[in-house]
This record gives sequence, structure tokens and C-alpha cells, in this order.
Amino acid sequence: MKLITRFAPSPTGPLHLGHAYSAMLAHDMSVAEGGDFLLRIDDLDQSRAREHWEEQIYEDLSWLGLSWATPCRKQSECQSQYDRALTALWDKGLLYECTCSRRDIRDAQSAPQEGAPLLGPDGLIYPGTCRAHSGVDEVPTNSRPKNVTLRLNLSKALSHPTWSSKLFTKRTAMPEELACFIEMGPLANTRAQTYEFTREQMLATIGDVVVCRKDMGAAYHLAVVVDDTAQKVNHVVRGDDLLEATMIHRILGHLIGNDVDLSYSPPNYYHHPLVRDDVGKRLAKRDDARAISKYRSEGASPQDIRKMVGLD
Ligand code: GLU
Ligand code: ZN
Repeated sequence: MKLITRFAPSPTGPLHLGHAYSAMLAHDMSVAEGGDFLLRIDDLDQSRAREHWEEQIYEDLSWLGLSWATPCRKQSECQSQYDRALTALWDKGLLYECTCSRRDIRDAQSAPQEGAPLLGPDGLIYPGTCRAHSGVDEVPTNSRPKNVTLRLNLSKALSHPTWSSKLFTKRTAMPEELACFIEMGPLANTRAQTYEFTREQMLATIGDVVVCRKDMGAAYHLAVVVDDTAQKVNHVVRGDDLLEATMIHRILGHLIGNDVDLSYSPPNYYHHPLVRDDVGKRLAKRDDARAISKYRSEGASPQDIRKMVGLD
């Protein structure tokens, strides 16, 4: 099978060394295997996306010597696909509206159960306040509400009846093929490792994530799964800060895969370590000092950048 990798930056600031590393890694892997490297513009959050940052992405990556198929996918142009995926989930009764503010979530968590982790891939783990009011036991008769925040009812999703019982294992109470993903990155001890997770682990460490943001028409987890599936990405290269989120992506992929004229087949993952600054802090968009364009204006060559991130 042809290897398809991607780099999916958000045009909300300059690309820095960490982005260069991720993009070059994904690019090199596909080139080495005669595959395809895709560039995707993750501009779902239109309140933060800027055209000049998008232009800068093209410029920086071209300068680094990368090439990609054009035109590249932009999330802002794919709303109809996100809508179809959300509607499919809604019609299965797997979503509910959440009206909590960040503060509400913090307050509801102020007396957490002992030992329960508080942080998941999206920050505070949602305590389920609105789930309790949502009557989610039935399949909804109303159509999906628009311009509201929607969360995935994870517990319900993990025991969804459309999954045939023979797929369930006693150990995980989840379809066996779902309870894992293949990790190819340095986190795996061997060349490839099956990363397993249980239903309980997911409920405790991830919770009911937001799949549609009130102001955006979708949310990251939903969009990234639809995007990667639509683009047939089979080797997802990205930072290891997203390792935990991969569990939710596996579940979402399975849930929407056959409903949205997409054909989901789980990609392999390569989670790479994040590039850090001199004091060990991960680089952020605001670290303009590490911007690729800055190194470039100071006379660095693409080869120098490769060396700096340890790719040569
Ligand atoms: N746009 C996302 C980011 O910048 C992409 C994440 C991913 O690779 O899944 O973090
Ligand atoms: Zn809520």
C-alpha cells in the first residue's frame, strides 16, 4: 500500500523548528517509500486563522525543499463533510449538547474523586454535567441542533449496539480491533507496537470530548478524523502530545467511518518527540525567536535547519 503522510499546521502564527521537524519527518518518510506527502491547512478556527500565516506556511515549506500535492485541503472548505459526520453521530444518539463554561467545568471538578486524573487531551476532563440532563438513552427524534457545543457520550459510544458482540473481548469490553492503534514512532520499543487501551482507561483519561464547538461548526477531534479519512492518510506523523488523543480518534473513526461516504481504515501512527527550547520547554506559536523565517532571514540554509532538529 502506498504510504500517505501529512503535515497539518494551523495558520495562526509562524512555523517554528518544531513544525519544520514534523513536516520534514513526514515528508522524508513518504519520499523514502515512494508515497505521497500531503499538506493540509487546519484553519477550522476562523477566528484565529490568517491568510498571511497560510502564505507563510507555503513559503517556509517550499524553502525547506518540501513539495506536496495541490490544491491542498483546507478545513474551512470542508464543512459539509463535518456536518455529515456530526449528523451521523447525532442520529445514533451519541452526542449531547453542552452549555457548560470552562468555569462550570472547573467548579464541578473541584471535589474530584480521589485518584481520578483531572486532565485529558483537551484539558479538564468533562465531569458529565450536561450528559445527565440530556436523555441520551434514546435515539433522538429531533435533528441535530446547530450552533451549539456537542460532546460525544463516550460511555455510550463504547458500547454501541451496532458493533457485533463477537468483536468484544471480555478483557476490554470493547471491540478488540478498536481497543488499540499501531504506533510506529520512537515511543514503541520495537519497530511497531500495538498500543492498547481499555474502556475504563478511556473513560477515566479522556471523557466526553467536544466534537463540535458552538462557534466553529466542528472541533479538532472530529475534523482531524474526517480529514485523515477523506485524504486516505495511512501514516499519521505528529507530535507525541497527541498520543492520548489518538484513542479518541480511533473511536470516532470507527463511528463515522461508514456513515459519511468515507471509508475509514485505521491509519498507523508515528508520534515524534516535540522539539524543545534550551530549558526543555516545548516550542509554541509565539516563540517567534524559533520561527523558520527568522533563521532564514539570518542566513540559515534548509540544511542548517535539518541539522538543528537532528534530521541529518
Ligand atoms: N492542526 C493540528 C495541530 O497543529 C494538527 C494535529 C494533528 O496532526 O493531528 O496541532
Ligand atoms: Zn455541559
